[in-house]
Formats: sequence, structure tokens, C-alpha cells
Amino acid sequence: MNAKRGSAGRVVFVGAGPGQADLITLRGAERLRAADLVLFDSLADPALRAFAPQARWIDVGKRGFRGVPHGSSEPGAENTGQATINALLVKHAGEGSVVVRLKGGDPSVFGRLEEELEALAEAGIETEVVPGVTAALAAAAATQRPLTRRGSGRSVALTTAMTHDAGLVAGAGHADTEVFYMAGKQLGALGRKLAAAGWPGDVPVSVVSRAGWPDELASDHRLAGLAEAAVLHAGRPTVVVVGAGAGKITASIPSSSPARARQRVLPTP
Ligand code: SAH
Repeated sequence: MNAKRGSAGRVVFVGAGPGQADLITLRGAERLRAADLVLFDSLADPALRAFAPQARWIDVGKRGFRGVPHGSSEPGAENTGQATINALLVKHAGEGSVVVRLKGGDPSVFGRLEEELEALAEAGIETEVVPGVTAALAAAAATQRPLTRRGSGRSVALTTAMTHDAGLVAGAGHADTEVFYMAGKQLGALGRKLAAAGWPGDVPVSVVSRAGWPDELASDHRLAGLAEAAVLHAGRPTVVVVGAGAGKITASIPSSSPARARQRVLPTP
């Protein structure tokens, strides 16, 4: 590591974007170039390492750090992992290193940023947050479905289907469009809860997995048929877009579109 003794260490939270390395911002790439140490999560593209070959890279998305996978039913174990990450940030920045905390998507969206900022503030360490493209925006781009629509889609909610104790919670239509994160394993249950919360069975639902990657997949459903998406997207990071922003814009996307060439879009039943 190249930490200069006596110089002020700091932590820069950088959003890596949802997929391939070129979705990071220019500012994020610049901060990586200046890093002594990078703590990253498993969603980050390994190609990002080329931005900081001088830095030491530590994978804190591994089980050993997290204790258990995100969203597990053992919150205590997960908190142990979070405490380890907080301690690493404080230790290395405290010793004078420039630390980049690289997070998938945007650091401010379901990224445990609050805990890490609090720990660093308590230790009196300087911080900066560089935004990134969050999964909801990558999904909208992948499917060419704007999240806001003139007239019918005035509000968007970013919602997690998971609570801290791993229960499934679905809101009662807080917004014209709701984007659910961390719902991939429970699509059938999410559909039932949304119906119980008052969403009509025929509301359009767009399910997108690995948005921003070359193998991104998108499928169209009605709420009543959401469970059908489970097999197609199994085991992949997935967002579920419900409501106005999930509807198609035109009957067909031109076949020359790169998005069209890359993805499989299944027709609405
Ligand atoms: N900070 C991240 C979210 C982290 S929570 C962001 O801003 O995107 C992890 C959840 O994000 C996953 O369970 C999934 O719901 C969603 N996600 C992350 N990357 C994704 C991708 N490339 N495509 C679809 N969903 C993704």
C-alpha cells in the first residue's frame, strides 16, 4: 500500500453502477485511480480493477466478512460482518490511507451506507460519496421503459421487499411506479402481497435481472402472473418494476437497438 505517513486518510464511497465497468462515473473512476485500498462487494465487475492497479483490493462481499448472505434470516451474523467492514474502514483511513468503498449501483440505495458513514463520523474521518447508476435506472434503460410518464407516472418508489428480519413486505401503492429490490427469490409471494395491498391483477410488471450486463434479461408480466418470472430470473440480481413505469412505450423496439440485441424480452401474456 502507498499510504503516506502523516497525510490525512479518507474514505470515498463510490457507486460502481449495476453492471459492467463502463457504467461507473468519470468521478468514480478518478477516485479509484487515487486509492490506496479498495473495499468492494461481490456485485462489482472485476474489470474495475484496471482503474486502480496500484491499490490493494479486499473483497468484503464474501461470507467471511458478511457472516451470512445479504437478506439472511440471521441479522446478528450479518451485523458482525458489517462491524468488521466498519472497523476496516476506520483503521485504514485512520492510518492515512485513501480508501475507496466501492458499492454496486448507488451507495445511497440499499447499500448500508448509513452504518458506514456513522462509524466514520464517530472516528472523525473525512468522507465523500460519489453516486452511481442504481439498478432501477439500469432496468429502465435495459427495457427502454421510462420510470416516470407524463400524466400517469408522477412518482417512483425504490422499495426493498426484505425487512431486517427477512420478512416480505409489500406496500400499498405508495407511488405510481414501485421498483422492488431484493425480491428475486420471492416473486410469487411478492405478487400475492401486492395484490392484497390493492394493486390490480392486470397491472403491468417488468422483471429485469442483471441489468447493465451483457446477459441482462427482461420479462413482461401482469401482476397476477408474476410467479411465472421466478424460473427465468432464478439466482440473478433482479428488480421488479410495478405500475406505470413498467408499461411498454411502443409495440416494438427497432431490431437494430443494442438493447434489443442483448436481451430476451418475453411478451406480456
Ligand atoms: N446499491 C444497489 C442495490 C444493492 S441491494 C443499487 O443501487 O443498485 C441488491 C439488490 O439490488 C439485488 O437484490 C437486486 O434487487 C438489485 N440489483 C443489483 N444489481 C442489479 C442488476 N444488475 N440488475 C437487477 N437488479 C440488480
